[in-house]
Amino acid sequence: MAGILVVAETVEGEISGFTLELLGAAKVLSGEGGGAVTAFIASGPAQALLAHGAETVYTSAAAADSLAEVLAPAVEAAVAASGADIVLVAQSSLGRDLGPMLAFRAKTGVAMDCTGLAIEGGRLRATRSAYGGNARAEHTWKSGVQIVTVKGKAFDPAQAGAGGGNVVPVEVVGEARIKVLGVSKAVAEGIKLEDAQIVVSGGRGLGDPSAFKQLEELAGTLKQAAVGASRAACDLGWWPPAQQVGLTGKTVSPNLYIAIAISGASQHMAGMGGSKNIVAINKDADANMVKVSKFAIVDDYKKVLPALIAEIKKLG
Ligand SMILES: Cc1cc2nc3c(=O)[nH]c(=O)nc-3n(C[C@H](O)[C@H](O)[C@H](O)COP(=O)(O)OP(=O)(O)OC[C@H]3O[C@@H](n4cnc5c(N)ncnc54)[C@H](O)[C@@H]3O)c2cc1C
Repeated sequence: MAGILVVAETVEGEISGFTLELLGAAKVLSGEGGGAVTAFIASGPAQALLAHGAETVYTSAAAADSLAEVLAPAVEAAVAASGADIVLVAQSSLGRDLGPMLAFRAKTGVAMDCTGLAIEGGRLRATRSAYGGNARAEHTWKSGVQIVTVKGKAFDPAQAGAGGGNVVPVEVVGEARIKVLGVSKAVAEGIKLEDAQIVVSGGRGLGDPSAFKQLEELAGTLKQAAVGASRAACDLGWWPPAQQVGLTGKTVSPNLYIAIAISGASQHMAGMGGSKNIVAINKDADANMVKVSKFAIVDDYKKVLPALIAEIKKLG
């Protein structure tokens, strides 16, 4: 029997945005012949998973913040009960442990950090970035359960619907051999880069860290915008590494991505290539970012930015 099991996670008692993206991916795969969508949740809002497209939700007696070693046997039991042959896990701190652990236990392979999924000939084909973003690796499984961890923002989140379906308890849980002594939450000010609908990003071509003040002004003028940067700009200490966009930084897929003095290297594109509209401000008409952009302003950003900010301000 074919089917797709989504391993759900919660954040402060709510289904995580990442989980909704997994359910969105599962729906697409189901439409391609991947079978029924089911979900596993350690404990928590199972009904919300039904409302977002899972036909059956398997729950356990484990705490919501359980470690992978506790959840692995329960997920395994849910896979067996559901008959799923595809397991979607988030590329989160839990998923990075859980994906390989499940694969080891099931004597199968795991494809990590995937950005593309498709059903071909009844089996899964998973795509991920390789060789530092310079190539794409495609994975298929000859047999057995196909386990993937999925990169954040690679899929659109599932929308809530009518719901309905069953919640089935799974009795088995694993033993915790690791003790978590404490968890500290990263303090983030303003809109989170990953959640922003507009991202204004700066690169090495800004030539001066003080230029980020102008980017902040542009972001403030646009409202609901966050400021990101290329790795080159972050490595120079011009902007916090936590705000780096790209292969080794954050993945974003906003409605509008404004790339200012960023060349558009493949490793940067790996983190923002899914943006709905890309606007490039670059003095080099041959820069890759200009080529992939929907609109480009080919000029010195020092001339462009003040004029752009003034025009947007006029719009109110
Ligand atoms: C394993 C690996 C992982 C990596 N991960 C990442 C990652 O996560 N994110 C990332 O960004 N990079 C990453 N990189 C680095 C990546 O390869 C590039 O080196 C980097 O993205 C370049 O940054 P940049 O575009 O800001 O700088 P540059 O490539 O130097 O480009 C600067 C641009 O600014 C333009 N410019 C210059 N002056 C002006 C001006 N006055 N007005 C307008 N335009 C101007 C130039 O025309 C040019 O296009 C990674 C590299 C490796 C090997």
